[in-house]
Amino acid sequence: MPGRVDGMTNPRRARIAIVTGGASGIGRALGAALVTRGDTVVLADVDIEGATSAADAMSARGPGTAVATELDVRDGSAVEKLVADTVDARGGLDIMVNNAGLGIGGPVEELTSAHWDRVVDVNLRGVVHGVHAAYPVMVEQRRGHIVNTASMAGLVPCPGLTSYATTKWGVVGLSLSLRAEAARYGVRVTVVCPAGVDTPLLDKGSPSDLPRIPSDDTVDTRRMITKMSGGKLYDADTLAADVLRAVDRNRALVAVPRYAGLMWRLTRLSPAG
Ligand code: NAD
Repeated sequence: MPGRVDGMTNPRRARIAIVTGGASGIGRALGAALVTRGDTVVLADVDIEGATSAADAMSARGPGTAVATELDVRDGSAVEKLVADTVDARGGLDIMVNNAGLGIGGPVEELTSAHWDRVVDVNLRGVVHGVHAAYPVMVEQRRGHIVNTASMAGLVPCPGLTSYATTKWGVVGLSLSLRAEAARYGVRVTVVCPAGVDTPLLDKGSPSDLPRIPSDDTVDTRRMITKMSGGKLYDADTLAADVLRAVDRNRALVAVPRYAGLMWRLTRLSPAG
């Protein structure tokens, strides 16, 4: 869709994107940034009310459009169907953002197998489902970009967040391996590894349908993540702009500012052996 950006004509065509977890936080910010660029975005989330109100707000601002759809990323066939329906209705898929996720904290001895299953099913298997559905379409198109949201917890040891970190290391491994495999088909992959981002995630405890984790009552997650992030949380809209820049430049990894310093410090805190 032609448009004007910074006083210059931007002749690029509108892209079609799916963003899982698009009702809130990082997914919502990414959806909004894509719509601002004139793209068409499907916000897919278990929270259909949140996704619908986000889509309405984005579409009202334009110039692109957003629509909402209910999706649980744990359901692989539902993810396949969403991708197939999107391709049928819109003629292709340019960007698949596998972003839906939840945080389960707490020392490993406090976690039940139900906690492990939930965090793996949403944060890792959910991303696998998105890749499994979107990748063949993109290979066939000989173009497309998969963006997976991992975390800083996917690059460094995060005691107290071991189950979460397990899934995020998985997402980083999946993304960087797939990126190397996918290049031959013209398909790109980027993995997003922020430290703390100021979103509702930081105020949500573990899922309420699971057994209570004792440390949920004592640990202030927002405070802990802020501390782990060097005392400052990142803003979701700023992160979304960074991610879109990384997509434009085909970067493998999006990391937070001061990341190199953070990596250096944490690596020194966690020496091998
Ligand atoms: P958020 O809670 O604001 O948004 C997460 C969204 O995912 C919500 O809308 C939620 O309804 C949706 N969701 C949860 N389970 C789902 C499921 N099974 N199927 C579909 N949708 C589901 O959190 P956020 O901070 O925006 O998190 C987005 C991603 O960013 C997550 O993968 C998270 O792990 C990652 N991340 C967050 C931070 C942070 O500090 N906030 C840091 C690094 C990485």
